[in-house]
Amino acid sequence: MDQERNRRPGGVGKALLGALLVLVLAAELGAAGLLVWYLRLPKETEAITVPVTPLQPTEETAPEPAPTPDPEPDPAQQELLQARQALLERAYSLAQGYYYTEALALLDQADSLRNPQTEALRQEIAQKQAELVPYEGDQFYHIFFHSLIVDTDRAFDGDYDSAGYDLYMTTVSEFKAMLPKLQAAGFILYDITDLVEFRDGKAVRREILLPPGKKPLVISVDDVNYYKYMEGDGFAERLDVDETGRVVTVVDGQPTYDGDVMPILDQYVAEHPEFSWQGAKGVVAITGYEGAFGYRITDLEDYDAETQAWMLQKTQDVAEALRGSGWQIACHSYTHNQYWSDRTITDQQEQYDIGRWKRDIAPYVGETNIFISPFGVSFADDDPRLLYLKEQGFTIYCPVEANMTTRWENGMLFQGRLNLDGLVMKDYPERVKRFFFDPADLLDPARPG
Ligand SMILES: [Zn+2]
Repeated sequence: MDQERNRRPGGVGKALLGALLVLVLAAELGAAGLLVWYLRLPKETEAITVPVTPLQPTEETAPEPAPTPDPEPDPAQQELLQARQALLERAYSLAQGYYYTEALALLDQADSLRNPQTEALRQEIAQKQAELVPYEGDQFYHIFFHSLIVDTDRAFDGDYDSAGYDLYMTTVSEFKAMLPKLQAAGFILYDITDLVEFRDGKAVRREILLPPGKKPLVISVDDVNYYKYMEGDGFAERLDVDETGRVVTVVDGQPTYDGDVMPILDQYVAEHPEFSWQGAKGVVAITGYEGAFGYRITDLEDYDAETQAWMLQKTQDVAEALRGSGWQIACHSYTHNQYWSDRTITDQQEQYDIGRWKRDIAPYVGETNIFISPFGVSFADDDPRLLYLKEQGFTIYCPVEANMTTRWENGMLFQGRLNLDGLVMKDYPERVKRFFFDPADLLDPARPG
């Protein structure tokens, strides 16, 4: 009996172990199989298939080789094939992000690597480039967000801030759901600074190119300051940069890639390069009264010397990483004071406000000519307070306006922005529907009422 009892568990254990081993082996063999297949890639002779219709925004991936057996390739030949494969993949990936000129230059400089495959790809890319058309529409598109709600339980916990978050914020799940819808609707991210060129120091409309039927979209994010009032309410606490140079959000002390618009969009564009014209992402707008990106660099006296240095360095690192990955940084005023919202701001108050942003924020995040107005306020074109901003170098002015009116006047670009937040998505869904998608399809069920 005892033996039986002892044996049985052992038997079950062995059977389980056996099954596990089979699974592990199968998995390893599978992986090994894949690896072997992958390692065989460079051995292919003329069989590397140049993608036939690869440059359209579909689920296409990099050029896919068709394996053929090749017994004993000579090393020099193998090296050549490897180099050519790398070249094809590089040129292909550049072309996917609309870097056609760069892709063509790469293929033209290929010398010994040139063959019918590289020529075929070259031709295809040249054709895509020739198909580009100037965007002639008067309607431009600019949507904006505040920092995304990461944890809806904490944001909508019914405390003092919950109602405001429901009105003015967007959740991570909503934002993630929007991106494929925007892409499917024919939008391509464009850098707002590419919409202007300067003649005699005046910003005028610049011709932009797009594939036929596509529409240029600008995305901006306001108040990327991770204010103190948001602490504990389910938002990221600051931005940081990972060891590869990517911008990350820090959520509950941990680096994450989906804690706000920036890393989520970075990831999406990495997976869908055709959604972004030459790597453009959007505009990060910051105030100054509580520092930048979650670093309290305008309250340095509250911190020890080491923390001060750390915060200043981090602010610069984040700004550099943002700019390096297709983001622009905008001034959103220093104070975000009510005097902007009710337009009682005096010339002196404005000079103080803009002066402080330039003195205490710009040195760490870089100069900018983009002004994202606090509260979305606008001024008449001849208002001295608007003219002061222009004089201070802000030639791009973005208020909030549902039609996203875009005009080049008085040497400036004005571009209205539509907020895709709870307020608009719930109370004014037609504003979204007429241009983009039905927000009812993606409203976060965690929203209160
Ligand atoms: Zn704001």
